Amino acid sequence: MTFEDFHFDARLQDGLSSMGYDKPTPIQEQAIPLISAKHDLIACAQTGTGKTAAYLLPILNNIINSDHRHLNTLIIAPTRELAQQIDQQVEGFAYFTGVSSIPIYGGGDGATWDQQRKALEAGVDIIIATPGRLIAQLASGVIDLKYVQHLVLDEADRMLDMGFHDDIVRIIKALPETKQTLFFSATMPPRIRTLANRILRNPQEVNIAISKPAEGIVQEAYLVRDDQKEKLATKLLKDSDYSSILIFASTKEKVKQLGRLLPKIGLPLKAIHSDLEQTEREEILREFKNKKLKLLIGTDVLSRGIDVEGIGLVINYDVPPDPEDYIHRIGRTARAESTGHAITFINEHDQRRFFQIEKLIGKEITKTPLPEDIGTSFEYSPESRSAHPKKPNPSGRKKFFKRRPAK
Ligand code: AMP
Repeated sequence: MTFEDFHFDARLQDGLSSMGYDKPTPIQEQAIPLISAKHDLIACAQTGTGKTAAYLLPILNNIINSDHRHLNTLIIAPTRELAQQIDQQVEGFAYFTGVSSIPIYGGGDGATWDQQRKALEAGVDIIIATPGRLIAQLASGVIDLKYVQHLVLDEADRMLDMGFHDDIVRIIKALPETKQTLFFSATMPPRIRTLANRILRNPQEVNIAISKPAEGIVQEAYLVRDDQKEKLATKLLKDSDYSSILIFASTKEKVKQLGRLLPKIGLPLKAIHSDLEQTEREEILREFKNKKLKLLIGTDVLSRGIDVEGIGLVINYDVPPDPEDYIHRIGRTARAESTGHAITFINEHDQRRFFQIEKLIGKEITKTPLPEDIGTSFEYSPESRSAHPKKPNPSGRKKFFKRRPAK
């Protein structure tokens, strides 16, 4: 199946193509026809499945084809970061369509509030909002919800966790009765079902199972401080007799550093990173595939691109920032039903992140005690440590309003 099969407006299809989308993901295949047919929808899908495009595309297609343009769609999301991400996707898809959007979230200063207000007064097709700030702007009377046709609740479970239940109910009460409601949640515990039953009319349901690591992978982890990692890696590599080994690190700098440190162990190895020329990278991959190189060190980019038979061991020198990346990294081993081994180094700060991975894959991973000569470890206590601070908005800019002319 391709996106052409949905017969979207050509301007939307152009946006899709320019963003490099050609094949729908499973949630998109299942949800887009149901949303286009105007059903209410309850969808159990995690971030990473392509859920955002699954609801944005049919909604955008509907807006492009409407005769009268008013505020058409309200998307409610738990956090400012998610609201911004959704808005960026709208911007990409709608680039050739003239459809406009604005993210409304709190935390800014008075100027932010005024700019959001001005943008709302000027008129917009889609609002993507966090619940608290939306209620504040609603109270100021600047948003006319009369013509809203689509309501999307994104990451509903997280919104309830964050205590937004009553705000959501208040917002829904302010919306017209006749609208399409799309309810997305990563999990479906009973309290989410109760909310969904309350607000959806004859909903269709879509469930997307998350990708799980292959059964044949033996997974273990070490609780290890940064200053012990090199010694531990050296020991594990010396003791292993795998013919192909991958080491992942989260940054290019770390990859380069390991590429300098690890040759001491005497294994044929290379580090691959984006500072190398394309031809050099291809050559390194070829050597690795041909088993001339026993060990390859790279970042997560490598985890999605490399399809090499017979990788016996994957070492995560640090915990990947995104739980899905863990599945991609360790999935480089045990390909085609063979068996494999994945070892992850968890420092004190990465414990929370690792716990998220365990939650995603639905099992606890064995924490192997450190060998005596490496030194002492620490207790696994994922709840007590804060995760790394969130990255700032990658585009580094605030966006308030734009309505591009259709091209
Ligand atoms: P989401 O689950 O909506 O957060 O999407 C996860 C990531 O997958 C985002 O970076 C999207 O841009 C990307 N994505 C979603 N659907 C597709 C697709 N059909 N083809 C390529 N990339 C996609």
